[in-house]
Amino acid sequence: MAATSYTGRFAPSPTGPLHAGSLVAALASWLDAKANDGQWLVRIEDIDTPRCVPGADQVILQQLAACGMQPDEPPVYQSQRSSLYQSALGQLITQSQAYPCGCSRQDIEQAIAVSGQQRERHAELVYPGTCRGGLHGKKARSWRFLSTFQPSHGPSGQQVRRRADPELIAHEIHWVDRLSGQQHQNVSREVGDFVLKRADGLWAYQLAVVVDDAAQGVTHIVRGADLADNTARQILLQRALGLPQVQYLHTPVVLGADGDKLSKQNGAQALDLQDPLEALAQAGQHLGITCFASNPADWLQQAVAQWMLRVRAL
Ligand code: GLU
Repeated sequence: MAATSYTGRFAPSPTGPLHAGSLVAALASWLDAKANDGQWLVRIEDIDTPRCVPGADQVILQQLAACGMQPDEPPVYQSQRSSLYQSALGQLITQSQAYPCGCSRQDIEQAIAVSGQQRERHAELVYPGTCRGGLHGKKARSWRFLSTFQPSHGPSGQQVRRRADPELIAHEIHWVDRLSGQQHQNVSREVGDFVLKRADGLWAYQLAVVVDDAAQGVTHIVRGADLADNTARQILLQRALGLPQVQYLHTPVVLGADGDKLSKQNGAQALDLQDPLEALAQAGQHLGITCFASNPADWLQQAVAQWMLRVRAL
């Protein structure tokens, strides 16, 4: 890895080709890396195998290349990195920060109904911590992160609570988004103990992304605002695993005709490889960037200069 103080990345899930929305995330992460003289990596997040489309990784890489965005290192594939996730889970288990859970979705819904927990429509279920104290005769299905305290390690490796950490007492994570400013989330209350390894044996996104960002030396994450809600969970995991915290910038999402995030389901079209300049122009417009160029390389050069001005003003 090159000795640079900035490493960024684009981490697409190969569930289909890039569309206008995903290109915005790719472009913003590329521009931010280049504006900071940084490295830009691509990581194919293919752990959720039932959702992956064979060959989509290659299409995505071709689309990026057609738009003039080449990763500075060969792309890595999460499907080949299970041993890293396993050792991170092992560390969390040793630290008593991960525990097996035997609850099905139905069990969780029932426990929530009994507890009288209020839930907004569409909001995710907040896991009520049923298996924190043990499986109560149930079979382990998944592994969850114990979100209510942050151990750190004394010289002999034993757990000690960081009593001086105000976030520990409040269980509230604070961070600064470079675009949206101060953010906070109480993970225990708003999300609950989240899944690290799923009941179907697949690694959960939260664990894999944190382990990989650290392993790849990522210092800056630039991605769509639809992922912003994961940030507090990821910071919690970074702290629990003793990994460096990264800086975050979430770009506004591109909406489909129905007002939801643009996706295949609401009409997103795969980017036209024949006309990358038009695709870049559209993505740039979404980020407030307008360039006049006859090829992607020139367009990107102008866009880096504009991005630098915009980000410096943040
Ligand atoms: N793989 C995730 C997605 O395509 C992005 C992960 C990330 O940028 O943190 O939605």
